[in-house]
Amino acid sequence: MSQYHTFTAHDAVAYAQQFGGLDDPSELVSAQEVGDGNLNLVFKIFDTHGVSRVIVKQALPYVRCVGESWPLTLDRARLEAQTLVEHYQHAPEHTVKIHHFDAELAVMVMEDLSNHRILRGELIQGAYYPQAAQQLGHYLAQTLFHTSDFYLHPHQKKAQVANFINPEMCEITEDLFFNDPYQVHERNNYPAEIEADVAALRDDAQLKLAVASLKHRFFSQAEALLHGDIHSGSIFVADGSLKAIDAEFGYFGPIGFDIGTAVGNLLLNYCGLPGHSGIRDAAAGREQRLVDIQELWNTFAEHFQTLATEKTQDAALAYPGYASEFLKKVWHDAVGFCGTELIRRSVGLSHVADIETIKDDTMRHACLRHAISLGRALIVLAERIDSVDELIARVRQYS
Ligand code: ADP
Ligand code: MG
Ligand code: MG
Ligand code: MG
Repeated sequence: MSQYHTFTAHDAVAYAQQFGGLDDPSELVSAQEVGDGNLNLVFKIFDTHGVSRVIVKQALPYVRCVGESWPLTLDRARLEAQTLVEHYQHAPEHTVKIHHFDAELAVMVMEDLSNHRILRGELIQGAYYPQAAQQLGHYLAQTLFHTSDFYLHPHQKKAQVANFINPEMCEITEDLFFNDPYQVHERNNYPAEIEADVAALRDDAQLKLAVASLKHRFFSQAEALLHGDIHSGSIFVADGSLKAIDAEFGYFGPIGFDIGTAVGNLLLNYCGLPGHSGIRDAAAGREQRLVDIQELWNTFAEHFQTLATEKTQDAALAYPGYASEFLKKVWHDAVGFCGTELIRRSVGLSHVADIETIKDDTMRHACLRHAISLGRALIVLAERIDSVDELIARVRQYS
């Protein structure tokens, strides 16, 4: 362990030489900082042929996109690395491999996925990865089942929950998802043209009661070790391959939050597609997103159910029918959390390129309004939307 200091490119190369797991570390000669995220430094480390071989990611002690005025815990690097290591044990084919991490330096060395692309960009461009939705469902079932009470011994589970306490990152989610969009707040970020739509959220008692219930579940339901930020920018894809990265929001929370975030980002793409229809026919792309959502949920639920049947030891939880009862609750949670993702990405601090990159102002505002009204409907109707087919029917109704 050494004392925290922010890495230069030179430091990152030296660190990768030491911990990158290469047979001949002297091959690593240069680094480029490529972080496009809001929070951290990400260095690609290149060999003598100019090929990127390994990644060094370091947390900064503040929010990168805001500056030093918003300090942020360095412990998130440990939480990210440990969440990814834990998830890798259960879904090695769908989780980036962590070679090494150091809590004091808030740094990790990981597998280079430069031969993959970020899913969000691919969805916007209309590139189609036929296995991606099922692979994402499989990743979520494997990681969430094996860190839940359906699998872990109660003592093991409680020790794990204690290790993954992540109060500062959770607070960001608690604020950005469940508070800011429903009040006047300086962090909110939306065009004046949609003020009436946003003001209506603040005056909507039914909506705010449902959001309170979702926030309460986010606070209190330690169901499994969530990724915590599984939007389409945290997912790398290539032909036949899908891998999750960027798990610094990892904590034990409600399983429906991860499902809802993943589904919510598919729906944000759905809302934004008409703004990019020059690239691909929006109607066909939208139909594909709805199929993706169906495949994601069905794969997740079937696989979780199978794992419970095969592996659950607890006498009460193993009772026939209980896992499927539990999955109904997860589904209702997922629909609600999905709605909060649609709203916070339209009104709150952090937006998505699926809508933000639409050049025509009128079209972009229409897409934002669509995401807000669909999000509101999903939040207030969540308990009455009993299946993925009913969700899709609602999406069509609010299109
Ligand atoms: P942040 O936590 O700051 O959002 P991310 O982990 O999402 O950081 O990484 C930011 C960007 O860095 C990614 O969008 C990607 O372009 C690049 N990146 C991150 N991890 C890898 C990796 N393992 N292989 C290749 N590129 C990566
Ligand atoms: Mg990121
Ligand atoms: Mg919210
Ligand atoms: Mg991140």
